[in-house]
Parts: sequence; structure tokens; C-alpha cells
Amino acid sequence: MKKIIAVDGPAGAGKSTVSKIVAARLGYTYIDTGAMYRAVALKVLESGKPVEEVTGDIEIKLDEAGKVFLDGREVTKEIRTPEVSRGASDVAKFGFVRKKLTELQREMATQGSVIMDGRDIGTQVLPNADLKIFLTATVEERARRRFEELKAKNFAADFEQIKKEISLRDKQDSEREIAPLKMAEDAVLLDTTNLTIEQVVAEILRLAQT
Ligand code: C5P
Repeated sequence: MKKIIAVDGPAGAGKSTVSKIVAARLGYTYIDTGAMYRAVALKVLESGKPVEEVTGDIEIKLDEAGKVFLDGREVTKEIRTPEVSRGASDVAKFGFVRKKLTELQREMATQGSVIMDGRDIGTQVLPNADLKIFLTATVEERARRRFEELKAKNFAADFEQIKKEISLRDKQDSEREIAPLKMAEDAVLLDTTNLTIEQVVAEILRLAQT
């Protein structure tokens, strides 16, 4: 039977890391909706055109391996810069952007069992999901994880700067008028501050099987 798991939460809570592992263990398709908002932002930044124009004829594809394609070009790495993170949160405020991506996401969810992560999956995109998880952690812990991740890749990283950017994005995502980041009433809250990745995965698998 086709099953749907929705995972929402603030930036850096570990949504994509754990969702990818859960998808692999259950044989589900993982859908990263943040990557789609990031692709819109990248197109705005690269083209210099207004978001209204860019959204009109955009083509965004995610493949099974997690690669992201914007108008046929692979942009998996390009969408991960701090500039695109900020841009994604900016374009995500617009109703016409959300409408377009929500339609695409719903269509993607019809293909089989999926685990989809984002900010509004349990509340707006897939309100009938079989399981809804709201993943969170303190802002310090989320910034620390991002900092360690960048350091491991030998990228320059400033902890205070990362913390500031995450807090700003949380605020912007939670306070926007359309589909703000909010826990669905029927979601399970998982605070991962003191949990390992494997503990979070185990808890989601347990919930998915009950
Ligand atoms: O998840 P990620 O950090 O890649 O998302 C980038 C931005 O895209 C978020 O800060 C948020 O503004 C937006 N987003 C959204 N709704 C989603 C997924 C992401 O508004 N379902």
C-alpha cells in the first residue's frame, strides 16, 4: 500500500539527512521540497529577472539519486550556498511560487510511497499524510551541526554568522503569511537536540510501523 510520510521543521534540524536514510530503509522515494524553492531562487539570482517572470516557465526535476535539475541543467551543488538559502526563503513568501511548487510536489507524491520534507508538508502540501513528523532542535545545536558539516568539507565557517542566518530564516519562514512553518496538529514532535541521527531514524521507523 502506498504510504506518505511528511517531515517538517526549521532549517538545519536534520530533516534531509534522516529522511534520506528512512527512505532507503523503507524503499520509499525521498522528496526534498527545499531544493525546489532553492532552484527558483537560483534562477532569480542568475537571471536577474523578477520572481514572477522566472516562475512562469521554470522546470524543476529531482531524480532518484537526489540530483536537482533546473531547466534541464544540474544544479545540485549550486543551490547549497548561503546566498541561495536566503533567496529561497525570500521567494517562498510568494503565493504564486508556493502554488506552483505545491502542485508539483503533490504530483510527485502520487508516484508511490514517499517521504517528503519541507516546512508546510504536513499542514498544506500533504495534509492526509500517514505520518507527520515535526523535527526540531535548539538553534545553537542546529548552527553547530551546520558549522561542523562545513568544516568537514574544508569550507570557511563562522559559527555566529551561521547562527544568525539560521535564526533569520526561521523567523522569516515562521512569520510569513502564506503556509508558514508550523507544526501540524496531528504531527509528532521530535526534538533532536540530544539525539543521534540513528536514534532519530529509529524513532521515525518505529512510528512508521505502528
Ligand atoms: O529545507 P531548505 O533549508 O533547503 O529550504 C530552503 C527554504 O525554502 C526554507 O528556508 C523555506 O523558506 C523554503 N521552503 C518552504 N517550504 C518548503 C520547503 C522549503 O517555504 N516546503
